[in-house]
Amino acid sequence: KVITEEEIRKEVEEKNVRFLRLAFTDINGTLKNLEVPVSQLDDVLGNQTRFDGSSIDGFVRLEESDMVLYPDLSTWTVLPWTSVEEGTIGRLVCSVHNVDGTPFAGDPRNNLKKVIAEMNDMGFDRFNIGFEAEFFLFKEGANGEETTKVSDHSSYFDMASEDEGAKCRREIVETLEKIGFRVEAAHHEVGDGQQEIDFRFDDALATADKLQTFKMVVKTIARKYHLYASFMAKPVEGLAGNGMHTNMSLFKDGKNAFYDKDGQYHLSTTALTFLNGILEHARAITCVANPTVNSYKRLIPGFEAPVYISWASRNRSPMVRIPNANEIGTRLEMRSADPTANPYLLLAACLKAGLTGIKEGKLPMAPVTSNLFEMTDDERAKLGIKPLPSTLHNAIKAFKEDDVIKSAFSEHIVDSFVEMKETEWSLYTQSVSEWEVKRYFNY
Ligand code: GLU
Ligand code: MG
Ligand code: MG
Repeated sequence: KVITEEEIRKEVEEKNVRFLRLAFTDINGTLKNLEVPVSQLDDVLGNQTRFDGSSIDGFVRLEESDMVLYPDLSTWTVLPWTSVEEGTIGRLVCSVHNVDGTPFAGDPRNNLKKVIAEMNDMGFDRFNIGFEAEFFLFKEGANGEETTKVSDHSSYFDMASEDEGAKCRREIVETLEKIGFRVEAAHHEVGDGQQEIDFRFDDALATADKLQTFKMVVKTIARKYHLYASFMAKPVEGLAGNGMHTNMSLFKDGKNAFYDKDGQYHLSTTALTFLNGILEHARAITCVANPTVNSYKRLIPGFEAPVYISWASRNRSPMVRIPNANEIGTRLEMRSADPTANPYLLLAACLKAGLTGIKEGKLPMAPVTSNLFEMTDDERAKLGIKPLPSTLHNAIKAFKEDDVIKSAFSEHIVDSFVEMKETEWSLYTQSVSEWEVKRYFNY
């Protein structure tokens, strides 16, 4: 949707906008905001808003610390929980530029645009993405603190709080619709207190922007109900984890290039070779799709999360599933990612892997129709099925060894990302957990 400067100025008047929130995302995937009073509107629209990038993780070295925000006008929204009487807040998603006006190479959003441009050069117009981001709603503690007490159990005593969770979910859905999301499904997930809200697919950049807005809306509305929303991959041991299934298709001349009415599962050769690219680079993609120490506690058998690199149509245990769909909806559902992934980096990695697969033209291994978890290691090896990395450490190694996936990113992003992840892993190896103390204390 195109929004003009005039439309923004008009809405600023009509809705009594007092502040402008300028949003961008750092390499970790954290949403950052710079809030300026509406008196700065001309500067904001004229790409004149400066900030100090050295305070942002992995962004800039000290000598080049000044950065400029370029708002993407199509992302304009007035935050619906602010009121016209008291003054509202307008929000714009921005790209980060250097002071000389060139796009900043460390900005994940600029980086995704570059891979999308490569896709355009190959003759595709759109990379369509639908995310299914799961999350938990946890109760706040007696002093308002965060807890991991789930908002609902199937226990009899918690009927009242179960209603709170459902009410909260409904308000999240309504809020999203007010700011232009088309919510297609919202439901309780398998875990106690676990929820899922799916919004309609859109092109990769718009969907990555929307995911960041989505997480902000979910967390904001949850607080109204004295709940904390968590997108952490595995917040509670023994319960299902939070996945972020990533549905992907490429469009060409307005048509779904993944669809072929005569193909296996209606998949075209384009889809199959794209899929092969994803599978071949799966281990490196995992470092981006599952970027935390905790992510690997979700990728275990028994909770509908994948462990092995394979694909299938119905079966939910492999990494990629082909959902039953009509022509426009024919897609690959990558089931490994979790919502701690930076959506811009995730989509850049997937798109790069898929495009490389298309260029190489190789078909993927045969789909797996039996239960992967019931096979022995030997049986899986015979079928050429490898496991996903089992720890962040292994995923970082796979990332560093994969030149195709690294080429999806600027040098700046590769270096900062690897450095941050290695630091994270090193801090984790130094930590002593409750589990260890319990297990080893009396040795
Ligand atoms: N929560 C599951 C996961 O960790 C996914 C459940 C589903 O199939 O939606 O990926
Ligand atoms: Mg789900
Ligand atoms: Mg799904």
